[in-house]
Amino acid sequence: MTTRSSDLTAALGHLRAEVAHLHADLVRSGLVVWTAGNVSARLPGTDLMVIKPSGVDYDHLGPENMVVCDLDGNVVEGGLAPSSDTAAHAYIYRHLPHVGGVTHTHSTYAVAWAARGEAVPCVLTAMADEFGGAIPVAPFALIGSDAIGRAVVDTLCGSTSPAVLVQNHGPFTIGRTARDAVKAAVMCEDVCRSVHIARQLGEPLPIAPDDIASLHDRYQHHYGQP
Ligand SMILES: [Zn+2]
Repeated sequence: MTTRSSDLTAALGHLRAEVAHLHADLVRSGLVVWTAGNVSARLPGTDLMVIKPSGVDYDHLGPENMVVCDLDGNVVEGGLAPSSDTAAHAYIYRHLPHVGGVTHTHSTYAVAWAARGEAVPCVLTAMADEFGGAIPVAPFALIGSDAIGRAVVDTLCGSTSPAVLVQNHGPFTIGRTARDAVKAAVMCEDVCRSVHIARQLGEPLPIAPDDIASLHDRYQHHYGQP
């Protein structure tokens, strides 16, 4: 029992450090302003997650002030209130067992697409690689209940995309790990920007569905170092 408890403490300590560190990536990638945006990670094999505290400056985020919650959003460990998006993160973990990390931002170009409620069409090979198709839009939902989480999960279940734009709000991304979810948030903003710019110049050309599927498969299964 003592061994299990110390293992759990060590695992949580490691995850606190990782989640704190990933918030710096949101800043470095220009995805967040002020205190908006958040990353969480599920502690594998448990019903616990580590998430950013609410309303704390990015400069002051460290492993010590990350908040540990259960998957109903209740605080288990930590002296600060968790992110106001905790209910959405918790809902996603409860309903998508393969998800180990969730990221939410108000990054400019993704929010601009969300404000119009328009899915981002798959017109770039980089989109086919990462998203396997369009980035879908989830219906408008108010913050604080399960509504946002439900909108995100219902939309992602019909899509290959790890990113969804909640209408009038912004992107939520998922990944096998929190780092994967942050990467999807970075790529989401990048392609929203590129497709927006393309639109200013004319109508972007579609990519054939078979080619999208082929690109997605190659990138997901064969890209990078073996
Ligand atoms: Zn938000």
